[in-house]
Amino acid sequence: MPSHNMRLCADCFEFYFKRQVEKALKKFSMINLESRIGLGISGGKDSLALWQALTEMGIETKAFHINLGLEDFSIASENACQKMAEKLGRSVNVVKVKDYVGLNIIDIVRGSKRQFCSVCGTIKRHIMNRYVQDNNLNVVCSGHNLDDEASRLLGNLIYQRNDYIKRTWPVLPETEGILPKKIKPLIRLDNYEIRIYAKIKKLPYLKEKCPRSKGATLHYYGAALDQLEENMPGIKRNLYFGHLKTNGGPNEETPQNRCQVCGLPTRMEICSACGLIAKAKERLNEK
Ligand code: SF4
Ligand code: ZN
Repeated sequence: MPSHNMRLCADCFEFYFKRQVEKALKKFSMINLESRIGLGISGGKDSLALWQALTEMGIETKAFHINLGLEDFSIASENACQKMAEKLGRSVNVVKVKDYVGLNIIDIVRGSKRQFCSVCGTIKRHIMNRYVQDNNLNVVCSGHNLDDEASRLLGNLIYQRNDYIKRTWPVLPETEGILPKKIKPLIRLDNYEIRIYAKIKKLPYLKEKCPRSKGATLHYYGAALDQLEENMPGIKRNLYFGHLKTNGGPNEETPQNRCQVCGLPTRMEICSACGLIAKAKERLNEK
């Protein structure tokens, strides 16, 4: 592990991995005894690794998977989640986009000027927020890791997106009992380390990437950071944790309005997800 300048055997690596999760949970006060935790799993290495580690650490979560209806990729993703549930002797709730919003992601994206991933991300967050409400959960954790967050931060710094920069903290507080607290316990681990852990634990994760992710700008920032990391081990950690140290603190700003359609907090009259869904339905009705 060049970024830590150390070599570990498989047993010690497992210990190290769970220690990093534990440190993130403690340092950022992610959970407590009152936490009713939902875990969004995609079928990829990160969320399955997180499920494995938390379960071994005795932290029970209610796993759910949002099936996006992206043909073969979504079928394979759901299968990976089901296999993981069997491996752990737990269950996973599958939520279909169409059941929640009455349309498939592809119908919502069609005709929208926004990028596929931007629409998909908005709809996924919307469904997740409604799902955790319906299931009385107050914390939701995701498998975002150090690479994801450092890449996103780099992009936001380049374009000075201050609103997003403020949301770099790995915990977003609960909003008035409506939106759950959002936590990222894998924040101290990078892609390389998670891949090793997944291999050691023989996790049945899906190796293919989402076919719609091609051209997503986050990949370019990630590739640039990988190149820097190769020559300067530890630079991703320095960028991300250095930023938290100097600009840190959770973003306490909460949107004042409630969406007139779904009732979730928003800065507008109708939230971005409900706006996209309404436009897509209008278009389909016109046809
Ligand atoms: Fe959705 Fe983009 Fe993620 Fe694919 S890569 S699941 S389209 S956000
Ligand atoms: Zn809404």
